[in-house]
Amino acid sequence: MKVDKLLNWKGKIIMSNHSGSYMLHRVLVLLDHMGITEKMKKEERNEFIKNIIKIGNSEDCNPGEILDEIGEKYGICYGCLEETTDFEDGLCPTCRN
Ligand SMILES: [Zn+2]
Repeated sequence: MKVDKLLNWKGKIIMSNHSGSYMLHRVLVLLDHMGITEKMKKEERNEFIKNIIKIGNSEDCNPGEILDEIGEKYGICYGCLEETTDFEDGLCPTCRN
């Protein structure tokens, strides 16, 4: 893995609070299964998801683990949090290079 892939959107080294990441991920999956995120307006949903990532960042979580599958479903790259439809392993074209 390249060093830049270890950097999050603020350019900080991603730490590995895996249990925190998985906990936030499970909350997103739960809301998704309940149909709540689906019902939200796209703008509100993306804002909500980005805020979840910010909470994760403050607790040394990994955005890739938080957004696993959810990011692609709702069109958010876990590397830069930009919207895209072109994904590979959760990353947009810019973050893949
Ligand atoms: Zn990206």
